[in-house]
Amino acid sequence: MNTPPDNPETEDEGPGNFIRDIVAGDIAAGRVGEKTRGIVTRFPPEPNGYLHLGHAKSIVLNFGIAADFNGRCHLRFDDTNPVKEEMEFIKAIEEDVRWLGFDWGEHLYFASDNFETLYQWAEHLIKNEKAYVDDLTADDIREYRGTLTEPGRPSPFRDRGVDENLDLFRRMRAGEFADGERVLRAKIDMAAGNINMRDPVLYRILHADHPRTGNAWSIYPTYDFAHGQSDAIEGITHSLCTLEFEDHRPLYDWLIENLPVPATPHQYEFARLNLTNTVLSKRRLTQLVTENHVQGWNDPRMPTISGLRRRGVPAAAIRDFCNRIGVTKAASTAETAYLDHCTRDILNAEAPRRLGVLDPLKVVIENYPEGESEELDAANHPGDETQGTRKVPFSREIYIERSDFMEEPPKKFFRLGPGREVRLRFAYFIICTDVIKDADGTVTELHCTYDPETRGGNAPDGRKVKGTIHWVSAPQALTAEVRLYEHLFNESEPGSGGTDFLDDINPDSLSVLKGCKLEPSLADLGLGDNVQFERQGYFCLDTDSSADAPVFNRTVGLRDSWAKTQKKD
Ligand code: ATP
Ligand code: MG
Repeated sequence: MNTPPDNPETEDEGPGNFIRDIVAGDIAAGRVGEKTRGIVTRFPPEPNGYLHLGHAKSIVLNFGIAADFNGRCHLRFDDTNPVKEEMEFIKAIEEDVRWLGFDWGEHLYFASDNFETLYQWAEHLIKNEKAYVDDLTADDIREYRGTLTEPGRPSPFRDRGVDENLDLFRRMRAGEFADGERVLRAKIDMAAGNINMRDPVLYRILHADHPRTGNAWSIYPTYDFAHGQSDAIEGITHSLCTLEFEDHRPLYDWLIENLPVPATPHQYEFARLNLTNTVLSKRRLTQLVTENHVQGWNDPRMPTISGLRRRGVPAAAIRDFCNRIGVTKAASTAETAYLDHCTRDILNAEAPRRLGVLDPLKVVIENYPEGESEELDAANHPGDETQGTRKVPFSREIYIERSDFMEEPPKKFFRLGPGREVRLRFAYFIICTDVIKDADGTVTELHCTYDPETRGGNAPDGRKVKGTIHWVSAPQALTAEVRLYEHLFNESEPGSGGTDFLDDINPDSLSVLKGCKLEPSLADLGLGDNVQFERQGYFCLDTDSSADAPVFNRTVGLRDSWAKTQKKD
């Protein structure tokens, strides 16, 4: 586990950001700037799924570095695999990056916009005898490639002449061959220690419609051939990617060196983000969606940006989280509880307080006049007077939380019990006079009396009560569904025990509470607004809501399990 201390004075120091140091060094040494007049980074998603928190780390890093050094950051879709890519994903990715608070301005790019240039560069390699068309099948290519301990063997087609190669490659483009019949490979070194340098595939035949280029192409460049070259075309100075691409860097450099590219970007690798009790892999997230283990990419239990947004996690909390965990080369796993901690930090400061009863128990205040009600002043935020006050109605019938009453309370229970007096938040002191039960002995209603002298929550005679509980006036209450979320996976690292990660799904990750009673002002809450239900946690309105049937999500509870573990250490 790798999370920094929650001490504002040391927070900035965290585990650091070695990429920022590299960029600062390059700028100081005058190594960037001749062409681009500043540093240029990019966030390069493949549009084959929705963005998740791991992508957020990359977004915050790329846009953050550009902002810190007065550079710019591009959004580039690496859309080289038409089979898995969709317009829906492109739109969703743009929305998520924008929501996270980043702006690429006019710098929106698609690798597919470079298809013609890339094709010409492939011919350039062929003409320089640095690429050849191979007729081996995919299986044979794998077989010839060798292993970590054995060198590869040259394909029998490796020494084709330039003219034959050009002819075949042009016919590949023209659509003369079937999928998989031939590929274009770089001619580098079949004995290289790094397998990526053993004549990697640059182009494959795919008779598939592309979301942006339609049926214009029947060959598509590989990621390796498109990525670095797109970086060069855009004038990217620092191409930041995750560690699994470290072994691809020699190929990245080889291509930049052997092609007439307009700039020479450099690749730097950092460790990807892992998070406990969830998965951050598009393949696995896709599986959760397509096999209906969750209710879509934006299910509030998903670690996707759209899921977190729907759950009520503010963009600022995600940015803070990404900045605080830092950027290193060492693989590490952050705790979900730490993300919750960052979320609470922001919501505690900002979210207005409201009253909501999740498991209602009716209370009749016998000495309150029937049919009457009044409006009481309630502070919107105990620590922030600028948030002002609101009116909450009070009447003869109210709801309290079932767990705030015990018929036989143990010693340390300071809430309501027979004959006991408690304070209703912002309202009055009440004493419980009678307990009504059904035939099974379940408490169905409490009868109480209130002290009209204690309006606002204080007794003029100075008497104290130990408990303050929340409540909602029954006639005006808003009835809502409330959804509570737990970890999507029971295991800290799902699937780590050699089992299928799906076996570790938490069957109780969603609890749906119906008939919750909320103060009426919550009817005005907008989508995307956060509130605290006092004593319960932070909540927001879910997109499933309709005008007469609101649905609320609990974003996080109030208890900070992360801060607790820090104190113990
Ligand atoms: P996945 O591994 O989930 O399938 P990916 O790497 O294939 O993701 P891309 O769309 O190619 O997804 O990623 C876009 C950018 O986000 C890349 O630069 C990638 O390195 C970065 N990225 C992806 N996952 C993480 C992660 N967990 N932590 C940090 N950066 C990530
Ligand atoms: Mg990828």
